[in-house]
Amino acid sequence: MTLPEPVAITFANTRSSSRRDRIATLTQWRAWVDAWPGLRVAGHAVDASGLLAVRATRDDVQLLLRSATGEGQPGRGPTARLLELARSSSSLDLRWRAGRLTLAVLPHAAPAALFAQHLAHAAFDLLLTGPPLAACQGQDCLKLFVTSRPDRRWCDSAVCGNRTRVRAHNRRQQARQTPTLSEEEPPDRRGPQRKVM
Ligand SMILES: [Zn+2]
Repeated sequence: MTLPEPVAITFANTRSSSRRDRIATLTQWRAWVDAWPGLRVAGHAVDASGLLAVRATRDDVQLLLRSATGEGQPGRGPTARLLELARSSSSLDLRWRAGRLTLAVLPHAAPAALFAQHLAHAAFDLLLTGPPLAACQGQDCLKLFVTSRPDRRWCDSAVCGNRTRVRAHNRRQQARQTPTLSEEEPPDRRGPQRKVM
């Protein structure tokens, strides 16, 4: 069984490529938050305008975590904004629900602000005390993962790894079809013959 990535990583990974935001709508956001039972109640309280703020924080979390993998420069902007969030006065409340500790929101507090603050803390905690991270090497993939093996290159070998293998295969096919020898060369010519000793 593979353990799920820490929440700060799966949050950053909701922006999976430059063209794909997996929490672009409230329905998608609720589906993401449902995977984290402790966050579900507070997450469902986030409205459409709150989601815009949460997505802006997500972009900062992604930039911060990616810079820790050597992808991109450690930006002062994202770090400063997340630090400001982490320091802001908290509307955090916690409740026990069916034996599980869950994030709750104080009355009159903004659920989106609580979320943004919680995830800013999670991102800092991951970088300060968590395992090392790596970025997927897939083309236009922005996903991150915990470096579980030193040779792991893909977020998902069946997706990004496979796409890269298919592209490399197509490049080899193309190179084979582009004639490098003149048309007069016999088709079975494969370079110098090896001397038999
Ligand atoms: Zn990937």
